[in-house]
Amino acid sequence: MAASYFDTDEFYNASREANYVKVADIARNIAWTTDTQWGELQITINLSKPEKDPRAIAAAAKKKADDPYIDPATGRTRPCPLCVCDADLECGYARKIPIGGETWGMWYSPYAYYNEHCIAMSWEHRPMHIDRAAFTCLLDFVDLFPSYFIGSNADLPIVGGSILSHDHFQGGRHTFPMEVAPVVETFDMPAFPSVEAGIVKWPLSVVRLRSLDREQLVDAAAHVLAVWTTYNDDAVGIVSGFADGETVASDGRIDKIHNTITPIVRRKGEVYEMDLALRCNITSDEHPLGVFHPHEELHHVKKENIGLIEVMGLAILPPRLRQVMEERGMSRDDVGQVFAQVLEHAGVFKWDDEGREAFRRFVARL
Ligand SMILES: [Zn+2]
Repeated sequence: MAASYFDTDEFYNASREANYVKVADIARNIAWTTDTQWGELQITINLSKPEKDPRAIAAAAKKKADDPYIDPATGRTRPCPLCVCDADLECGYARKIPIGGETWGMWYSPYAYYNEHCIAMSWEHRPMHIDRAAFTCLLDFVDLFPSYFIGSNADLPIVGGSILSHDHFQGGRHTFPMEVAPVVETFDMPAFPSVEAGIVKWPLSVVRLRSLDREQLVDAAAHVLAVWTTYNDDAVGIVSGFADGETVASDGRIDKIHNTITPIVRRKGEVYEMDLALRCNITSDEHPLGVFHPHEELHHVKKENIGLIEVMGLAILPPRLRQVMEERGMSRDDVGQVFAQVLEHAGVFKWDDEGREAFRRFVARL
């Protein structure tokens, strides 16, 4: 495998030593694994970020949208949490990396959720976008850092992460449960003979593509996205916002869009592996927060968006979970089983006969 673009061990250790990565705080988190039908899911109750008291929350509510953000790692103010600047480079907090034909920034997350949790962000402040260019950037990243995975949140509300306004990825050195989940059915994508394609046994609906040929892999991923973006299936509640036969306008992703993808890329030796989790943010009267979002009966454990990290099988739960567990007499295993259900709710094709048939109907279109 190719060498790393720079020595990540050296950068990571320097970030810890400068206390940009809050090692002592992160050590306070409570973490365990729970065996489920989806494998060993990973659960973390996040105690490393200081809890906000009600006065802080009230102050945050009054905060104007254009007030600067104060970075917890450096104390520096930024226009938004992900706007990197030259001063970040000078103090060693961030580095420049070349991806997608542009300069991006990269730093390690102050309150890391897993080992060597890094963030890559466009130098330009611009919105998240899942498209061919994003897939190319993800592959460029693993060419720079072959031992790191990289992924992107989806680019739509409900199914995306907490920051849609600044283009960014999250990566690092960690094996997530989704990575070791097996492909249980393969299928052909006739236009992309160098790409192996399969359905992963996972609560979210994941197509796994593998290839030695990265150009063809990008083409295949862009094709999956294009087909998914306008895909409807009334039988299982998938509503793309597009009429059958309609295509996405060339001006890109317009307001009516509901379907998108959470992509994850990793290297397996010389092979590129891409997991594409199919997402749909449609809402209904019964499920006003999202049909493919944790339903109300699970909100005591999780009601926030299911973003990239949770898609991969690592739950990041807020400090209040300690009280919830105590009040409801929940064991850690109980919490892990609820997290499995949370992920199942986010899956567009359920893992039952009807859902798997629906998944096959979709891949037949690829
Ligand atoms: Zn920004």
